[in-house]
Amino acid sequence: MSYSFSAAQMNRLSELAVTPLEPAIFETAEARQRMFSQLEKEGVKKNRRALTRLIETTHKPALCTLSENLARALCAQGFTQVTTPTIISSKALKKMTITPQSPLYKQVFHLDGKTCLRPMLAPGLYEVSQRLLNSQKQPLGIFEIGSCFRKESEGNTHLKEFTMLNVVEWGTPMESRLDRLKTLGALVLDAAEIPGYCFKEDHSVVYGEGLDLVSPDGLELASTSMGPHPLDDALKITCTWVGIGFGLERLLMFREKTSGIHRHSKSTTFLDGACLKLK
Ligand code: ATP
Ligand code: MG
Repeated sequence: MSYSFSAAQMNRLSELAVTPLEPAIFETAEARQRMFSQLEKEGVKKNRRALTRLIETTHKPALCTLSENLARALCAQGFTQVTTPTIISSKALKKMTITPQSPLYKQVFHLDGKTCLRPMLAPGLYEVSQRLLNSQKQPLGIFEIGSCFRKESEGNTHLKEFTMLNVVEWGTPMESRLDRLKTLGALVLDAAEIPGYCFKEDHSVVYGEGLDLVSPDGLELASTSMGPHPLDDALKITCTWVGIGFGLERLLMFREKTSGIHRHSKSTTFLDGACLKLK
């Protein structure tokens, strides 16, 4: 008879970010337990060191530092940071054509029939922009960094609560929209210290045809969109524009070469990529 690690043992090693050497096959249950205990001990040590570094030296999780660095880089290029509410009206969803018939609707956390947790930053950004554009000249660049919520089936690349960076520029000349999107993508990914990404054409249920930024192995890092767009009328936007939305935990996952997004998320199990369950 041969023994491999149990599902519970594999889960524990995975949360400690320990990858057992292949082939992890043992002749006895005792041999398997011995190897598991050794790997768990090493994993605990590694995670404790990472937490100690955070507590004694860096003091700030990478998600916070990344968010600050991106905001600084965008402000230096003339973009203005805005903050809009996390709880939005269900009517705002409808304006984005997210209706009960659309697939994204089922992913929304509805609160009381009239409100929901925002699944994207666009509803708030559209509203703020439409008002700002009444008094400010174009081109006008704004951005927001904040939590978005989607009911997702569990996986290594999706979170129910994730941090979105959305950059929008209103009044980008029609003929330079694509180049501008590429420049803005590069600006953000350079500030995030992420090399080696590519652009790929994509279709979004809300925005139609667009361009994605992806990692070489196909992980979506950001989606872009541009206007004039069919959504603009309902939102009283009349100018040309470009927009780009990044998931910050995805950026960290790609940059740190980790296999799961959860260790970079807002979490009580992980802190700054390290496992907190060390007993
Ligand atoms: P995917 O196809 O990977 O589910 P999406 O196209 O639905 O993503 P967008 O609406 O384009 O996502 O959101 C912009 C960015 O936000 C994505 O490129 C990704 O980086 C990030 N993102 C979207 N959904 C999630 C999620 N559930 N967890 C973590 N990041 C996410
Ligand atoms: Mg997308």
